Amino acid sequence: MNKKERFIKKKKIIRQKRDLKRYHDRIERDQILLDKKKKIFEEGPEERYENPFKNYPGRNELCFCGSGKKFKKCHLLQIFK
Ligand SMILES: [Zn+2]
Repeated sequence: MNKKERFIKKKKIIRQKRDLKRYHDRIERDQILLDKKKKIFEEGPEERYENPFKNYPGRNELCFCGSGKKFKKCHLLQIFK
């Protein structure tokens, strides 16, 4: 093996190591993302914000005002006017 061949071989090994590292980094990143998704799926999203609809009835439930209309057709419209 001459000098040039050794040099090429060395370069090749360096490139392979680099690719392998990138590959492992990617796997690690994917795993972190996957864990996050799994956590959200299992535990629900973190309470990052207060749900503005928390104290209101569902859209298709009767409105709290007793009008007999569905919430979405009654006070929902007025609240978010
Ligand atoms: Zn109402």
